[in-house]
Parts: sequence; structure tokens; C-alpha cells
Amino acid sequence: MAINLFEIAKKKKIKYFLISYVDFFGVLRSKLVPTHSIKEMQKEGAGFAGFSTYLDMSPSDPDMAAIPDPQSMIQLPWQMDVAWLAADLWMNGKPVEASPRVMLRNQISKLAKKNMYLKSGVECEYFLISPSGDSIADQNDIADKPCYDQSALMRQYDLIKGICDCMIMLGWGPYQNDHEDANGQFEMNWDFSDCLQTADRHVFFKFMVKTLAEKSGLRATFMPKPFINKTGNGCHAHLSIWNKKKKNLFLDKKDKLGLSKTAYNFMGGIMHSAEALTAWFNPTINSYKRINAPVTASGATWSPNTITYSGNNRTHMIRVPGSGRFELRLMDGATNPYLLQAGILAAGIDGIEKKRNPGKPVNVNMYEESHKVKGAKKLPLNLQQALTNLGNSKVLKDAFGKEVINSYLTLKKREIKKYNLSNEKKIGFKGAKKSTKSNIITQWEKDNTLDC
Ligand SMILES: [Mg+2]
Repeated sequence: MAINLFEIAKKKKIKYFLISYVDFFGVLRSKLVPTHSIKEMQKEGAGFAGFSTYLDMSPSDPDMAAIPDPQSMIQLPWQMDVAWLAADLWMNGKPVEASPRVMLRNQISKLAKKNMYLKSGVECEYFLISPSGDSIADQNDIADKPCYDQSALMRQYDLIKGICDCMIMLGWGPYQNDHEDANGQFEMNWDFSDCLQTADRHVFFKFMVKTLAEKSGLRATFMPKPFINKTGNGCHAHLSIWNKKKKNLFLDKKDKLGLSKTAYNFMGGIMHSAEALTAWFNPTINSYKRINAPVTASGATWSPNTITYSGNNRTHMIRVPGSGRFELRLMDGATNPYLLQAGILAAGIDGIEKKRNPGKPVNVNMYEESHKVKGAKKLPLNLQQALTNLGNSKVLKDAFGKEVINSYLTLKKREIKKYNLSNEKKIGFKGAKKSTKSNIITQWEKDNTLDC
């Protein structure tokens, strides 16, 4: 039966709805709609001027309609009279193909034709920092190896508990919270689910963490590399494909790593397109200071530099921690939650269709012995290279359409231009390419990425 948002609002005492969408740069855009208007908005959508956000549109384009998906509704646990809704963008009576949630939906439909459904879980790392963004929030969090540090975790108990309580209330099945590998860095995990739901929750999680941190007088950042000598913010995803009968199609107990042929082909597809996918998975100038980075204060970056896979070994781009799933460790905190899932699907579907072979697992410590691995492809060194790879990717152009890819490239190239024109010149870095070699985080990066 169709979900009637007006009726739900009456029952749950919701006074306002946030009708939201995420643009290409991952920015969450919303309209706050009083309940008496939700009937009409549920049907017609909320109007937005696309040009005003990071979508490749012109000021003369007609209004976009953000049509809320009632399945996505989340009542804000800290503000119960407001409910959040993820929306799909429409224009002139058609879905906007060059918009992230529509792109993901299209890939989900493609896989569904094979009676296959992607389930995924994401691990969003973030830092708690001072409101100015100059330092981490907890000045006592100074250990050389701070990962899982109990005292540093418990000093942020009120906030972490507050966020976790919200997830419990929402029924997400949160199961652990910890201090991560950098001073000031945390991670919270909740259950995996259908990839559209995970993408919506991923968007909401970032909004929730930032909001609750702010209420505690702090700031939360998912910026890929906010501090040059500390481990960056990753956003690893655990992946498996299931059929309608709830059978895990990635599982083969007879295989050494517990993976099926379908799983290896899907993985082969991701490895084949990884150089291009970095444009979405590592979408900022700052991202390239996380991948390919030198060793951090804690002893490792925990981020990949090469397109390889392994068993339970965290130095590779893909890790197989257990049977029936694998972990993709490429993405960072700036990745667009919808493009993350859409990109994985498009590349994975190509892998299944072309029967792409990921080769043999590589069983070395990539941080120390990568020279022993012959023929493995390297990840791009900067955003410009990643965008060039995306522009050259037949797989992604076929999956999403040339125009959609070009729209993304247009906006991102504009961003690089702005970066190049910024005060970088004053300090001697004349472009994105050189800056990836730099050993500082610039003010421009902070201004443009801290709230990603
Ligand atoms: Mg982690």
C-alpha cells in the first residue's frame, strides 16, 4: 500500500518535513515543508533551481521537482517534530539522469533484471575538531598509536552515545563505536542493508553527526585528509549480492576465500574501472593526500595506493575479511553516498557481464613490499588524473551515458580551476598536480572540504 505522508505526520506528530536531495558534490539540499503542504509535495515534489546547486544546469532551465521517496523517511531523533525525506529529481516530467540518486536507482534496476541485489554497509570515519577547524577537539588525545584508545573514546562518550542512541532508535542496528587510527578520529558501525537504504542512511548519518557535534560545541569533519601527518578519513564499503530468495550469491564455501565466481567477476569489474571510479570515490583535491600518502604518525595510512586485492590484509584496495563478501577500501569521507553505490554497481555489473577476472590475490604488505608486485595498476596521483580516467572510461560512459559523465566533469574541472586560482600561488603551488606532492593542507582545502 502506498505510504501516505500526511497520515503518518498526524500519527507521529510531525510538523515539518525536510525534502532533500544530494547534488554531484555530495551537498545535502533541502526545503523545510510544513505538514499541511506534504500531500501536494509528495505528488508534485518540492521545486528547486538546479543551477544554484552542484548540478550541471543553467539559470534558464525550468524548476526541478524533488519528489520524496516515502520509504526513506527518518524522523529526526533529536527533533521529533521534523522528518527527513530523500528525494529523486525530476524535470519536464522525466527523472534527471545527471543526478546522483537517480543514477543509483538506474543501476539497481539494471542489476535487478538479473535477479541480483546489492547489499552494502559503509564505515564512515570522521574527526571531532574545534569549531574553527584548526585542531582536533580533544587536546589530551595525543597518543602515538591512538587506535581503539579507551580513554580518548570515553572522553567523547556523551556525543558518541547520543549518536548511537539515535541509530538504535531508528532501528539501524548499530553494533560498535571506536576511536580510530588518528588522534581525534572515530568510527561508528551499523548493519548493512539494501544499497539504496545504505546510501540514504549514509547521507543522514553525516548530517546527524555534524548536527549533534555542533550541538556539543564541536565540529565533525569527514574531510579525506584534514591533518597531513594523521591517518585520513576513509569510507570503506562491504559488499555482497543476493537474489530475491535471500541467497548470498557471493558465497562459495568451497573457495579458498569463500567467494563465488560472481563475486570474483564483480570484483574484477571494480578493479578494471578503479582508476576512473576514483573521480567519484576520491572526489576532492584533498582526497589525493590520503591515497598515495606517506606513512602517518601512527605508522600506516590504512589507505590503498595500488589496484590489488588480498585476503584479510588491510594494505590492499580490496580485502576479503570473510566468506561471502568483500571490502572496498578506496573511498574517502568526501565520496558522494549515491555515486559510491552507483559506481560500485556499474563497474560490478560490467564485471559480471564481461566475466572480468581479478587475477590471484596478492599476499604481501603493500606498504612495504609493493615493489614485489609486478604489473599492478597504480591509483591516480591527483584529481585531474582521476577526471581524465573517468572521461576515458567506456564502462562508466556506457553505464550512465556520456552526458551524465560530462556533466560531472564540467563541474569538477571548474573546481580545479578555482583551486588553481586560489591563494595556492602565493605559497608556491601552481596547480592541482603539484599540490598533491605538497606536504601541507591548504586553507583552500579546509574552506572547501571540511564540511564535505
Ligand atoms: Mg576504519
